[in-house]
Amino acid sequence: MSNTYSLLKLSTQSFITFLKEQNIKRFYFVYNPETKGIISSHDHLSEIADFLQNDKRDFAKHEGLFFELDSEYDVIHSAAVHRTNRGQAAGGVRFWQYDTMEDFIRDGMRLGKGMTHKNALAGLWWGGGKGVIARSNSLDKNNPEIRKTIYSNFGKFITSLNGCYVTAEDVGTNVTDMANVYSNTRFTTCIPNSLGGSGNPSVPTAQGVVSGIQAALNFLDLGTIEGKTIAVQGLGNVATPLINFLFEKKADKIIACDIFQQNVYNATATFKKYNFEARVVNVDDNSILFTDCDVLSPCATGAILNSKTIPLIKAKVVCGAANNQLADPIEDDKLIFESGIIYVPDFLTNRMGIVNCANEQYGYIDNDPMINQHYDNSWEYSIYKTSMDVFSESKTTSNPTGEIALKLAEELSLINHPIFGHRGELIIKSLVRSNWSNN
Ligand code: NAD
Repeated sequence: MSNTYSLLKLSTQSFITFLKEQNIKRFYFVYNPETKGIISSHDHLSEIADFLQNDKRDFAKHEGLFFELDSEYDVIHSAAVHRTNRGQAAGGVRFWQYDTMEDFIRDGMRLGKGMTHKNALAGLWWGGGKGVIARSNSLDKNNPEIRKTIYSNFGKFITSLNGCYVTAEDVGTNVTDMANVYSNTRFTTCIPNSLGGSGNPSVPTAQGVVSGIQAALNFLDLGTIEGKTIAVQGLGNVATPLINFLFEKKADKIIACDIFQQNVYNATATFKKYNFEARVVNVDDNSILFTDCDVLSPCATGAILNSKTIPLIKAKVVCGAANNQLADPIEDDKLIFESGIIYVPDFLTNRMGIVNCANEQYGYIDNDPMINQHYDNSWEYSIYKTSMDVFSESKTTSNPTGEIALKLAEELSLINHPIFGHRGELIIKSLVRSNWSNN
């Protein structure tokens, strides 16, 4: 292992072999704010700490990155705790396969930081973090028994972190998996309804997108959704209720697409009484983005706003549920701003997934005011109000909306929880003191 950062170039499977050879079951990298250095649990892994220390792209003083080798299958459990000033780090767990350890570690850090910003901007008293279960190529990922074991073990791993990270559902994880996580930890949300969970967040997410669209139209003095033409990419869980809301608000026409014929067929049947057009597209067909319309709503995959697509967009507003819409969060943010399009940052408008589940332990009320305030036009942290603040500052300062929203989120994320203070950091320190990696 003589090359710089050679461990990071390993596949998950090769890294697992390395861990087994070294008899390492758990490891961590913890940021020390006093020394500004990174503490590595094992000398053998110090090159990863060096890499983090020198990284400018994804490492952002993450309070703690924790990893554990699954006891039965070739997967690595991880929790990337970014910032816990506002509360324990909250964010879902992704089950994914990566080419290299670097890709895996970077993804966790990037997603964890994203959750810090999403949660803070939503006014939630939660910090930000993300779980990732990295699997090897050969794992039979759809086998229910294997999944049960892996997610149960992930629950134990989360318990061992003493609450610095509270998990939830994310890409690759389903509600049965969450029940298995819950069987071994109290530090989770998004559990099934039957166990007291909040259930499917897609309708609230769609409603949040409507708030973002309405804010952008108002900011541009274009009135309401009534009479507008809206193009929607994707016809999945969020897009379907979104289209419903938009027609309820008297949108004139909606043009949509999906890569699955069945989704197009179902949506066409659902919205047959409206002015609705849908088509099946290939996965690399982004023509929907160039529709002649008032609003473009990306509700499928990320990275669709890039230097190739942005110059061809005709909509005045881009606002959708898809995560990480900007391929390059800095350059494409600038490009879309310079193109005169109002881009509603995805992490601002699609917050309702985490809002819906984050406070499950406080119970439920029909028409819950704690949820509804996010759709309000005047509540300090509502989607509408925050969007309007972001657009105004963007106009005054000539800076792109993503950058403004991020700056605001960053400031909010550094405010300590009014009751528990910066407790997550104390939990992490105590994990290090108690020799977590050797337990
Ligand atoms: P989903 O998987 O139910 O829907 C996505 C749809 O997009 C699918 O029907 C898929 O076939 C389609 N699709 C994929 N690639 C496409 C392409 N190239 N062109 C057209 N259609 C394509 O997911 P969802 O829950 O509706 O979420 C949509 C997006 O919003 C995702 O990026 C998700 O991460 C994000 N998001 C969802 C929530 C939520 O509450 N569900 C919350 C926050 C963010």
